[in-house]
Amino acid sequence: MASPTFSRNRKVKVLATLGPSSGSPEMIEKMYRAGVDAFRMNMSHGEHKAHAANVKSIRALEKKIGRPITILADLQGPKLRIGTFANPPVMLKDGARFTLDMRKEKGDAKRVSLPHKEILSTLQPGHTLLLDDGKIRLEVTKADGKSVETKVVVGGEISDRKGVNVPEVVLPVSSLTDKDRKDLTFALEQDVDWIALSFVQRPEDVAEARRLIGGKAALLAKIEKPAAIDRLDEILELSDAVMVARGDLGVELLPEQVPPLQKKIVAAARKLGRPVVVATQMLESMIKSPTPTRAEVSDVATAIYDGADAIMLSAESAVGDWPIEAATMMDRIAAQVENDPSYADRVHFTETVPDETTADALAAASYNIARTIETSAIVCYTSSGSTARRMARERPSVPLLVLTPDRHTARRVGLLWGAYAVVTRDVTNFEEMIGKAKRMALRHKMAEAGSRLIVCAGVPFGTPGSTNLLHIVRLSGDELKRS
Ligand code: PEP
Repeated sequence: MASPTFSRNRKVKVLATLGPSSGSPEMIEKMYRAGVDAFRMNMSHGEHKAHAANVKSIRALEKKIGRPITILADLQGPKLRIGTFANPPVMLKDGARFTLDMRKEKGDAKRVSLPHKEILSTLQPGHTLLLDDGKIRLEVTKADGKSVETKVVVGGEISDRKGVNVPEVVLPVSSLTDKDRKDLTFALEQDVDWIALSFVQRPEDVAEARRLIGGKAALLAKIEKPAAIDRLDEILELSDAVMVARGDLGVELLPEQVPPLQKKIVAAARKLGRPVVVATQMLESMIKSPTPTRAEVSDVATAIYDGADAIMLSAESAVGDWPIEAATMMDRIAAQVENDPSYADRVHFTETVPDETTADALAAASYNIARTIETSAIVCYTSSGSTARRMARERPSVPLLVLTPDRHTARRVGLLWGAYAVVTRDVTNFEEMIGKAKRMALRHKMAEAGSRLIVCAGVPFGTPGSTNLLHIVRLSGDELKRS
């Protein structure tokens, strides 16, 4: 068995989307070893059977390496998507006619299905349809309620199930489609750790999903609609994490509006202590090329300097030719940025004022201790993970070792900046607490003889929400023999 050492050389996490390029036990293991901390199953693509096989592979790998691995199921949401083609990809030429209809047959260069009655009945001549994150632009020339004929204004290659945005039309759609409800049931049966909710428009969407999830997984709200920006704090309050879903955000709004919004969403999430993922087109050219463009590297670096908890690979790892190289590149960029002496200042640009709680007081104190004296890690005992989230929010200079008896909590930690979890039995007294903290820090190479640890826990031990204890301890050579 491979050593369960935390080999990551960075605090930001890497989330990678699985797909045909990466959905095998061998590729999942290679991606994990290349730096992927969490895997995303995009429910917009692939059958349940393939997703279930990936979950099985990840859980088998988890067992093999003795480390929790995070799985996120991303629900499609009320995103409009075209159907499939007989021979994808298909080239849509500028000026050509292209029809979207309700027919079930596979598409070609003349037509494709758009299985959304509500949009076909709303569209009028003159309306614009954007396909594949806005790469292709169509203008409606005829509409009969059941189909629309369009003129290709900006053409290009199109393949199966690409997204459709209709910027000028407000669609009366609910936040969870029938497909989402089925996918959610499936994902919860698979015991995934995070559910991502797409096209959130209002806090009520999050509240409804939360009711359906019933605490069986944590909830990540994807911010990709202008309406969600207007009510960002309310959405954040009800969510466990958020994603800057730049693909649809940059289609629904202008692309140049995305960078300031990325900064705004990351800062708002940081302030409230919600993990934030920056996603989409991060290393886009690596779908086809083994090396990224300088601009892409700079974009990934910017997200890390902004203080994102996680950076995401989408098509690069799902359908690209270089998924391992893309994961390796994320890892390398992160290590380089976090080594920059200016990183700490930049990441603390967002002020995180502690709430008036014991957990926040201890988190702020731990951060200050790590700044004041040399320490090698913060060891945090937690059952729900909430203390770990408050600690990570402070962006301390040392890694956070999360010790929890709950494997669900441990797996959810995979999206949290700087935090690495170990599933271990609860401690029952102070000596055990210190002894285990030292042993675990040594075993997972987060400390060595002579290092100091900051240990946080709650007394009475094993009581959720009781975090009230902070202790600084130095490791002696003896513990090294016992670890
Ligand atoms: C996005 O739009 O940026 C996104 C992450 O969503 P999806 O990949 O589901 O389109």
